[in-house]
Amino acid sequence: MKLEPLIIAATSDIAGKFRGKAFPVRQFEKRLNRGIGWTPTNVQITCFDSIAESPYGALGDLVLIPDPETPVEVEFDDGLPAERFVLGDIHETDGTPWECCTRSLLKSALDRIQEVAGLKIFGAFEHEFHFVTGKCPLGSAYTTAGFRAERQFGEVLVSAIEQAKLVPDTFMKEYGVNQYEVTVGPASGVRIADHATILRELVHIVAERLQLNASFTPLRNPESVGNGVHIHMSIRNDVGMPVTYDPTSTHGLSPIAGQFVAGVLKYLDRIVALTAPSVVSYKRLTPHRWSSSFNNLGYRDREASVRICPVSDLSDIAKSEQFNFEFRAADAAASPYLALAAIVHAGAQGIEEGLDCPDVTEEDLSLLSPNDLVARGLTRLPQSLESALANFEKDKIVTGWFPQDFATIYVKHKQGEIAYLADSTEAEIYDAYEAVY
Ligand code: GLU
Ligand code: MG
Repeated sequence: MKLEPLIIAATSDIAGKFRGKAFPVRQFEKRLNRGIGWTPTNVQITCFDSIAESPYGALGDLVLIPDPETPVEVEFDDGLPAERFVLGDIHETDGTPWECCTRSLLKSALDRIQEVAGLKIFGAFEHEFHFVTGKCPLGSAYTTAGFRAERQFGEVLVSAIEQAKLVPDTFMKEYGVNQYEVTVGPASGVRIADHATILRELVHIVAERLQLNASFTPLRNPESVGNGVHIHMSIRNDVGMPVTYDPTSTHGLSPIAGQFVAGVLKYLDRIVALTAPSVVSYKRLTPHRWSSSFNNLGYRDREASVRICPVSDLSDIAKSEQFNFEFRAADAAASPYLALAAIVHAGAQGIEEGLDCPDVTEEDLSLLSPNDLVARGLTRLPQSLESALANFEKDKIVTGWFPQDFATIYVKHKQGEIAYLADSTEAEIYDAYEAVY
């Protein structure tokens, strides 16, 4: 029997899950026009497969249209079929973007910053993950032995990254037990989130092929090291020139980049509901985990929510090209599209409001008194998903960045996720997230 090659058109949804439908590859051209049928209430399927309260009920029809720029085909030498998927946008049947299509929401955030300031976003997501049952010996943090323990995985993954037309950067043994980190080269606009989505999928695909079990859960258990997602960004003008760097400013941020970062930090305690959206995300966002706990800008500080990253005199790349900042209050429970959309909207808002670049912090903020924090305009990030959602929902500026019903739908989705865990012990909650991400 000759197998019929299939390709899946998929979307990264509110749950940060990559869901779609497969069809024969030979129908690809036809599907570019016609799309595949999609159901509105799918957006309320939580990461645990429960269905949160949905305004759509059993009603309505949508189409998921593959983007011809995004097909991924990865061949393996295990004799099994290639993996094929393509990213899509969800439209109403009349062709207008759907209010909960995360990729369309990112596109409108990118359009906004283009309109407000003539700017484009350039960047890449840095991902950490761990193997649930790994083979790293004790004492392998950052070691060559730790690398060798998963060398086969690393080499197959980098081949898959190249086949997917992403640019491989680094693969390394991270600090945590069986924890690894993978980075890819930067891209522009919506491709930044496309690449993050593709990369997560490739990590899971390669792990499955090698009979491994990879998880991006934000935190495995209270004693473990978190799996962060660090979103590196820089800003470019209309003609693609980098405009993030100003060597005459104290820490290198140009005035426009300072306004962008100021907006991100001003709205951080509200947008974190979109960038770190699981129950266990808030166990990671605590001091001394090298994640982020306050809405601070740090210079080379790995506990800052936004960190100014180093530039090197040794690199062959110009400093203005190297210069970037990273957003660290994110994790892989978030759809890359929603996380980046929220950040870009907050940055555009900061530019519109003409905010001043925040002062750079250089100390352990967890040691400051509440009064000192207030005096310096610093806020502790919300300490639970519920409180992050409450902050998000009640800010009309922030909810106004999205289509009218989106915020309500999003909050109901997350409440459904919380409700699913209502009778679980803390250990069961950690295990549940480890299993689904
Ligand atoms: N694992 C840390 C996090 O949860 C990041 C460590 C690092 O700086 O690479 O974000
Ligand atoms: Mg890391």
